Amino acid sequence: MTDLQAILDSIYTELLPRLGEGKVADYIPELAKVDPHQFGMAIATVDGNVRSVGNADIPFSIQSISKVFMLTLALGKVGEGLWKRVGREPSGTAFNSIVQLEREEGIPRNPFINAGAIAVSDVVLSGHAPREAIGEFLRFVRYVADDESITIDDRVARSETQTGFRNVALANFMRAYGNLDHPVEHVLGVYFHQCALSMSCEQLARAGLYLAARGSNPTTGHSVVSPKRARRINALMLTCGHYDGSGDFAYRVGLPGKSGVGGGILAVAPGIGSIAVWSPGLNKVGNSQLGAVALEMLAVRTGWSVFGD
Ligand code: GLN
Repeated sequence: MTDLQAILDSIYTELLPRLGEGKVADYIPELAKVDPHQFGMAIATVDGNVRSVGNADIPFSIQSISKVFMLTLALGKVGEGLWKRVGREPSGTAFNSIVQLEREEGIPRNPFINAGAIAVSDVVLSGHAPREAIGEFLRFVRYVADDESITIDDRVARSETQTGFRNVALANFMRAYGNLDHPVEHVLGVYFHQCALSMSCEQLARAGLYLAARGSNPTTGHSVVSPKRARRINALMLTCGHYDGSGDFAYRVGLPGKSGVGGGILAVAPGIGSIAVWSPGLNKVGNSQLGAVALEMLAVRTGWSVFGD
């Protein structure tokens, strides 16, 4: 049997001298303040165990990892009809790119780039005031993670509201093409708050378990989605979860994964467990530099991969 704790400990020890690599996301002022020398990793396995190392209990801004949970919520509301509003292809462009959106007439390539996630937030907003949609999202994440202590960091949400001009541009483009039903300020209010969700690696690994366990959380028995839907969300994470770094992540790690500019990555080993890693320094395409290295080490040492062993 693989000793996961020993593997986590060895990864942490080997990465210690490298902590601080990469660059924190300074385009969101509140995230620019984060100490880049932090590192945490947690694995929640389908048998109900959680193992962790480093700063795995410190909450951080999960940012775009929230797009996985919002997508799950939106699919629950409108089902496959969602794909009229957003595509399912890798974008090959930056997470906040605008050019492709204009060329493709306001239909974002996938739900994990910013434009796609903003369209998904618009779907969840339907029939609600923004505050209610944010509340529904927070309750959903607390449910999948089985943890009522999870909160949204209002300072991060405010920081993005004050500086998120590119997202305002993306949302306006989509509104102009008729792909947003609600006022831009309302949709972005939801989007900025979902991105500002604060979670530790341990909480995040638990929250991702339904994707590793055929749509249900094996520790609580909570059913979240059907096995088929869990498989499909994993497919999107694998092909689109790291923007224009998705191919490289699949090549190196071989697991579905979703990154965020807070330095977190959620990865899924189907049938085995859910892994969360956090290291704030980002690479050039906005994904956690050491987070990917740590997951690559984990994949090599455990043999976990969706492509064979
Ligand atoms: N909230 C961030 C933004 O909209 C999310 C980006 C990310 O995590 N890649 O820019």
